Amino acid sequence: MTDPDKKTSCGFVSVVGLPNAGKSTLINHLVGSKVSIVSPKTHTTRNRILGIAIHDTAQIILIDTPGIFDAGGSRTMEKAMVGVAFDALEDSEFAVHLVDVSMKNSLNKNRALIDKLPKNKPVLLALNKTDKVKKEELLAFAAAFNEAFPYEATFMISALKGHGTKTILDHLAGSLTTGPWMFEEDQITDMPMRLMAAEITREKIFNQLHQELPYAAMVHTEEWEHFDNGSIKISQTVFVERDTQKAIVLGKGGARIKQIGKEAREELEQIFDARIHLKLFVKVQDNWAERSENLRLMGLLE
Ligand code: GDP
Ligand code: MG
Repeated sequence: MTDPDKKTSCGFVSVVGLPNAGKSTLINHLVGSKVSIVSPKTHTTRNRILGIAIHDTAQIILIDTPGIFDAGGSRTMEKAMVGVAFDALEDSEFAVHLVDVSMKNSLNKNRALIDKLPKNKPVLLALNKTDKVKKEELLAFAAAFNEAFPYEATFMISALKGHGTKTILDHLAGSLTTGPWMFEEDQITDMPMRLMAAEITREKIFNQLHQELPYAAMVHTEEWEHFDNGSIKISQTVFVERDTQKAIVLGKGGARIKQIGKEAREELEQIFDARIHLKLFVKVQDNWAERSENLRLMGLLE
């Protein structure tokens, strides 16, 4: 971990915004490497950890709040997932509300979302896509949004060009609670992708087996390998506590785990836009839920 004498800070920041506001683009800039998914399609980002940004001595864990803020909700979200998303918002120290200023009737379209913004923690307003509108318009946007909600601060940014994004990091890094980092520095680059992939598999297991397993099994991504032809090999271990549970997850002749693997692979291929070779292993580990290392992971995943 980091030097114990150095004053570090660490915390969760939820990033909220309508589909296409530029959340993934912003996170890629804040994190400094491409860990999130940018796509012109909507609803591509629905996993909780979006990226981890390091700024000065702060570790800023950016999280998503799937389901809550989607206007209309063209995709039916599991109730449980929405509950988890509310917890995410609950756990975070800050929220960043990202607004696409190039969108017509932006304030009106954001009203339902503004109603759900947390009142018990600071919310930052980030007006995005400033490269597409005139400066006078921006000032009018800033005034109108600030009238609609008591934002702690307003930022004008272009996530695509990276303009103004550092000022958000400065603000967050200067305000997050002092404490140790939650992630090892050298794990940061691929950790979000690994967690995201594990979360996808866990969700498929949950969807298939929530009536048969007393809890959702834990999934850990062990290996992540890129090949020259663009494909990615991902190996994951599914941890359960008992042999009987292992049998349930495997299914008759391995049919269940095969189906789980297929569903997870298809989603991963869509997200990473690459051919994925997904290998799943099911392992019995006694009392995994009591191991502190696992609890730490669960704390981020549950
Ligand atoms: P998300 O749905 O909120 O995650 O939005 P994305 O990050 O996937 O971005 C949606 C679209 O907006 C993509 O085509 C981005 O390239 C584009 N975009 C994001 N930020 C900006 C910006 O600052 N300026 C411009 N012109 N386009 C942007
Ligand atoms: Mg996105």
